Amino acid sequence: MPQRRPLVAANWKMNGTLASIRPLVRAIIDGLREDAGAEVALCPPFVYLGELAGLLEETGIALGAQNLSRHAAGAYTGEVSAGMLKDYNCRYVIVGHSERRTLYGETDGVVAEKFAQAIESGLIPVVCVGEYLEEREADETEIVVARQLDAVIKRAGVSALAGAVIAYEPVWAIGTGRTASPEQAQEVHAFIRLSLARHDAGVADAIRILYGGSVNAANAAELFSMTDIDGGLVGGASLDAEEFLAICRAAT
Ligand code: PEP
Repeated sequence: MPQRRPLVAANWKMNGTLASIRPLVRAIIDGLREDAGAEVALCPPFVYLGELAGLLEETGIALGAQNLSRHAAGAYTGEVSAGMLKDYNCRYVIVGHSERRTLYGETDGVVAEKFAQAIESGLIPVVCVGEYLEEREADETEIVVARQLDAVIKRAGVSALAGAVIAYEPVWAIGTGRTASPEQAQEVHAFIRLSLARHDAGVADAIRILYGGSVNAANAAELFSMTDIDGGLVGGASLDAEEFLAICRAAT
């Protein structure tokens, strides 16, 4: 079985100012200086990518974006392309976050297009999947997650997942302070890996599946100790350097 290096990715969402992110990034860089365990990625708002690209140079901390256009270039006012993200040294891009799906109407098809655009441009998509509370209560978690992943596989092929990361983020746990229990999360992560194994055992073994949804310093170690949880996608707690560093250490 391949060793999967854990990944902890910070999703700052639409938070921060130039004045607040500089000390935050410096504290994260300082805190991780001695620590080469988990891979760490920071995903700031687009406008701060240039600033972070400079600050993170030669630190080993990766840069990621929170979204990208499904088009390569052209008359798409307000959009940002994969090529532009590459220009700013992005390694990762979050695709299909539930806030994009819910608030901006991104369908499974749109998410699959964005995923393909990232892969074709040499970015590593972190594709988010997860169910609403009503869907979990109706016992539909696996149906929803399988549908979301199938759209990506249908568009890009299962081999494309070799260059991707999956984040399981139950929508009811995002920004709510209500975390999935380690067992609940593990069950879905194992389901995802098993589903992928039916297409390609090598891809299923190697792919990193992150958990996201109210991860914090107190619950991270237990979540990350589960067999199929390979790190976390962290929202709120990633805006506090000490909290985020504790989460990174828990993944090491
Ligand atoms: C997220 O935005 O991906 C997320 C998981 O947020 P939070 O950690 O705040 O729940």
